[in-house]
Amino acid sequence: MSWPPDYHMHTPLCLHARGEPSEYAARAVALGLSEIGFSDHSPMRQDNYDKWRMNFDRLGEYVEKVARARKDFPQLTIKLALEVDFLPGQEDWIRHLASLHPWDYFIGSVHYVSQTWAIDDPSQLAEWRQHDPFEVWSIYFDWLTRAADSGLFEIIGHADLPKKFGIRPTQDCTPLFQKFLSTAARRGVAMELNTAGLRKDCREIYPSPQLVQMAFAHGVRITFGSDAHAPEEVALNFTEALALARSAGYQHHCRFTRRQRELVPLPEQAC
Ligand SMILES: [Zn+2]
Ligand SMILES: [Zn+2]
Repeated sequence: MSWPPDYHMHTPLCLHARGEPSEYAARAVALGLSEIGFSDHSPMRQDNYDKWRMNFDRLGEYVEKVARARKDFPQLTIKLALEVDFLPGQEDWIRHLASLHPWDYFIGSVHYVSQTWAIDDPSQLAEWRQHDPFEVWSIYFDWLTRAADSGLFEIIGHADLPKKFGIRPTQDCTPLFQKFLSTAARRGVAMELNTAGLRKDCREIYPSPQLVQMAFAHGVRITFGSDAHAPEEVALNFTEALALARSAGYQHHCRFTRRQRELVPLPEQAC
């Protein structure tokens, strides 16, 4: 069985992951992957913005750790990337980050729906009780659409993250999804199938089957990510993610090298 690249993996520099990049790479080789990509939480313009990202002065160290993993595992293609928070007003900062190293891709993720509330942060769970879920989903998808439209990202991360704790609006979110997906299609931005949702209260891949089916209908390309925060999570539940992609009609996924996209057929199905 061969696997698509795992393009969403973290390192201890984001303060809440375990294992060096070389350990993630060793796991990937053991599983038979031929390509992976590190996409740790990028620094914000302001250091110590929260407790789950690297400060700016660690960025060089991050790039070195990925380079070390490349040296340790020459048989594995290892991409250098970042998971970058999109908040309106951060565009210049993101362009600055992009200019600093030879990145292969940027994953644009929305975790914040205001300057202070990260909707997936368990320490801020009480915030959910102060807000109407549909209002949160509406802001989230508005910002996600702006991220897709910004030209700053190759991939959009975990596209329905607000479901993480199992809190969902009763209203129909289809128009929010449509706006996001038509923008992603028009701008040629890929969407990841992120298996971390299976390990959260929502017990579902990000994004939902409905969104993946709609993405295929819109012509949005896909990548795969485990969102590994430990070496044993590399490519976790990729069988389920591949099945979801195929059931929606996908036959290809994307690879990125120095921010250039290449379409690759999905691996053969195991018999
Ligand atoms: Zn994320
Ligand atoms: Zn992540």
